[in-house]
Amino acid sequence: MLIVKKFGGTSVGNTERIFNVAKRCIEDYQKGNQVVVVLSAMGKQTDVLLDMAKEVNPKASKRELDMLLTTGEQTSVALMAMALDSLGVPAVSLNAFQVAMHTTTDYGNARLKRIDTQRIHFELDNRRIVVVTGFQGINKYDDYTTLGRGGSDTTAVALAAALHADACEIYTDVDGVFTADPRIVPSARKLSEITYDEMLELASLGAGVLHNRSVEMAKKHGVQLVVRSSLNTSEGTVVKEESKMEKMLVSGVATDKNVAQFAVEGLENKPGVAFKLFQHLANHQVNVDMIIQSVEHNGTQDICFTVTEDMAEVALETLERHRNTSLRCEKITITRDVAKVSVVGAGMMSNPGVAAKMFEALYDAGINIRQISTSEIRVTVLIDEKYTEDAAQAVHEAFSLEK
Ligand code: ASP
Ligand code: MG
Repeated sequence: MLIVKKFGGTSVGNTERIFNVAKRCIEDYQKGNQVVVVLSAMGKQTDVLLDMAKEVNPKASKRELDMLLTTGEQTSVALMAMALDSLGVPAVSLNAFQVAMHTTTDYGNARLKRIDTQRIHFELDNRRIVVVTGFQGINKYDDYTTLGRGGSDTTAVALAAALHADACEIYTDVDGVFTADPRIVPSARKLSEITYDEMLELASLGAGVLHNRSVEMAKKHGVQLVVRSSLNTSEGTVVKEESKMEKMLVSGVATDKNVAQFAVEGLENKPGVAFKLFQHLANHQVNVDMIIQSVEHNGTQDICFTVTEDMAEVALETLERHRNTSLRCEKITITRDVAKVSVVGAGMMSNPGVAAKMFEALYDAGINIRQISTSEIRVTVLIDEKYTEDAAQAVHEAFSLEK
C-alpha cells in the first residue's frame, strides 16, 4: 500500500513528538508499505515567523512572506528525516522545489495545479520514507508560494491524489470530527464517518479540523480521508462520499462567534440597490453571508447581512462613506455580540422537519432567533452571542447527538 500521512503543527511541536511521529511512520513502513509523510511547521512556528516579519516590515511583500514561511515546513521535514534515520530507517526530506509542486502565482494563497511524482516514486522505490513539506509550492517564476493558513492538509490530499495513494491519513491533536466542539458541548461524540459535503459545511463554519480546500480536493478526486489523533491510536473519522452511514438526520452542530450583523434600513425599493450595497463591500474585500431583504414598507426596504467580526469595521466605514450618495439609506445598525449556530446533515435533504426541530429546541431554551439561512444540508440561525453554548447544547440534545 502507498500511504500518505499528514501531521499538523502540534503533532511535531517538539523533538520528542517528532520521534513519536517517526515511530508511527516506521510501523507502516515495516509492514511493507510505501510511506509519504507531509508535515506542517513545528507548533506555532508559522505565527512566530509572521510576528517577526511584522516587526521588521509591517508591509512586507507577500513574496518575501512566503519565502519566510516555507522555512517552517522545511525545518520539520529535515528534522523528521534525521529522526527516521537515527531510528535506522532510510528517509529523505523534500521541499516543494525538489518534488516540484506547481501552483498558481498568488503568493500567500496559491492553488496547487500539478505535482510531479517522479522524484517521490524514485525515493519510494528505493525503500525510503519520503518526508514532504506541507503548505508550500512553487510558481512559474520559480518562487515559493504558500497555500493559505492550514494548507498542509491540502498538500497531503493533493499528493494522495497524484500518487494514487491507497490511504490518506490526517493526524491532528483531536480524535477526529465531533458532533460539536467538545469545549462548547461536553457531551459531543466522535463521528465514525462524515460525507465530504457535511465536512465542507462544518469546515466553513469554523470547525477547523481540516483545511476547506483539502476537502474540496478530496471530493473532486475521490480521496477518502481519515482524520485521527497523533497522540493516541483511536480510530478517527472517515471523510468520504455519501454512504450507508449511520443514517443520521444531523451529523453535527457548529458554532461561530466571529460574526457581526448589519441592518441597513430604509433603502429605496428599486433595481440596483442591492448591487451597489454589496459591490461597495466586495470592493473592500468584505465577505458577506446570511443576506435577507425585507418586503417593501412605505416605499422602502431593509437589507440585513452578516460579516466576520474582524471585517466589521471596514464594512461599517465603507457603508458610511456611501451612505448619502449611492446608498441613500435611513439607518445603518451594527450588532457585534451575535453568533451563528448551525446544524449540518446530509440526511436533511430527504427528511422534512429539521429546521422546525431546531427552532423548537431554541424556543424551549428561550432563545430568540435574529436571522436564519439554509443550504441543502445546513440550517443556520443567528442568535445573541451570550446564548451560544446554551443553544448548541439544546440543539445537540434535540437531535440526540450525545454520547
Ligand atoms: N504551517 C501552516 C500554518 O500554520 C500550514 C499548516 O499548518 O497547515 O498555517
Ligand atoms: Mg490544520
